[in-house]
Amino acid sequence: MSEKETERVVEKIVSLCKRRGFVFQSSGIYGGINGCWDFGPMGVELRRNIKNDWWYVFVHQRTDVCGLDASILMHPEVWVASGHVEQFHDMLVDCKVCKHRFREDQLEGNRCPDCGGELTGPKAFNSMLKTRLGVSDDSSVDTYLRPETCQSIFVDFKEVYSSSRMKVPFGIAQVGKSFRNEVNTRNFIFRSREFEQMEIEFFCKAADEEYWFEQWRQAIWQWYLDIGLRESKLRWFEHPKEALSHYSKRTLDVEYEFPFGWGELQGLANRGTYDLTQHAAHSGKDLKFFDPDTKESFVPSVIEPSAGVDRTCLAVLCDAYHEEEVEGETRVVLRLHPRLAPIKAGVFPLVKKDGLAEIARTLEQKLRKKFPTFYDQAGAIGRRYRRMDEVGTPFGICIDYQTKEDETVTIRDRDTMQQVRVKMDEVADYVGKRCSSERG
Ligand code: ATP
Repeated sequence: MSEKETERVVEKIVSLCKRRGFVFQSSGIYGGINGCWDFGPMGVELRRNIKNDWWYVFVHQRTDVCGLDASILMHPEVWVASGHVEQFHDMLVDCKVCKHRFREDQLEGNRCPDCGGELTGPKAFNSMLKTRLGVSDDSSVDTYLRPETCQSIFVDFKEVYSSSRMKVPFGIAQVGKSFRNEVNTRNFIFRSREFEQMEIEFFCKAADEEYWFEQWRQAIWQWYLDIGLRESKLRWFEHPKEALSHYSKRTLDVEYEFPFGWGELQGLANRGTYDLTQHAAHSGKDLKFFDPDTKESFVPSVIEPSAGVDRTCLAVLCDAYHEEEVEGETRVVLRLHPRLAPIKAGVFPLVKKDGLAEIARTLEQKLRKKFPTFYDQAGAIGRRYRRMDEVGTPFGICIDYQTKEDETVTIRDRDTMQQVRVKMDEVADYVGKRCSSERG
């Protein structure tokens, strides 16, 4: 794709997101704030569906993973022990002419990408967002908004396994906000300063690291396929040994081909015993796992799948966005997987009169108890379908004159636009089954 085409595709997605309530700029009426986004009525549902499906698959469907919801603010020593205070740096260069600032590792060539000017040498810049806890000057402490959710999993490791009776091998999952003072926040919600992660720290014996790395490699790939991403848009990227983060023995990224190029969706890292060893040393607490069967104590190794909610959201939107010609008009349709769609069914009376609106309202209220629905009686039926197509609603249910005769309705499939007639009391089941997280 040429640069111009790329821009056009991204602009279309950004504009749909704004128009239909998926994503807004944060603090828009004040001119916005860089790297922060608000998720509107459709966006919040899409995100929840992504997070819920992830939790369903990786926590509820497994007996070897349990959940955690830890606080964002932590003791400042955590970030010393984890290596973030020392190592969580980006190397930045400035343009001597236009003064724009860039991450050295994201530059191609040695001139300013904006104006071609000469660049300064690299300077280290810590990406953690500092904050202050407490109100008085002498008792308050400086700490950070967490730059990743996983450190609380390590810190709470012993509390979790002793309270849940989990035994190695097992994992702890967490979904929550993280913050990074990113220098370059381009590409819509791909890189923001406030974002959400879905992380698992999977604890195993050192001898089993490679086995579990492979198990997780397959499981996370499958999840992207199960939420509807096209496999041809996904690939693996292996980090070269010399470029690994300070804690990692091996890292693979799942990448998605966004309109602006390939970008990381999720990292899979073998963190070895690094984190638990560091926290044991800094806190003075024993963070070994005691195996009651073998009476053995050891520091487990960690395999970490770490995914971003926002990037998943963006990949899902890019993958789902389609424009097609229908009866001489352009139809914009989001082909979202039904389990991710914000609204599962639109309910429409063919016309408002002759009691059809009343039947439609009653049906819509009944369906609403099972899943999110939307009632619409305004305008031509074709327009009503199109409005639902734009937000990815997989099913359009129409109540017509035949409904009055035999209690059947039509269900229109968003993607094929084909209609089937279904008994009114079977609609909840028909739609519900196709939108459920249950596989198979
Ligand atoms: P990048 O190289 O793109 O900066 P990273 O390798 O630093 O990412 P990780 O620390 O591995 O990212 O974080 C795990 C996941 O969290 C990423 O795969 C991504 O989905 C998400 N993530 C990280 N930073 C951001 C951000 N600034 N905005 C949105 N999502 C992010």
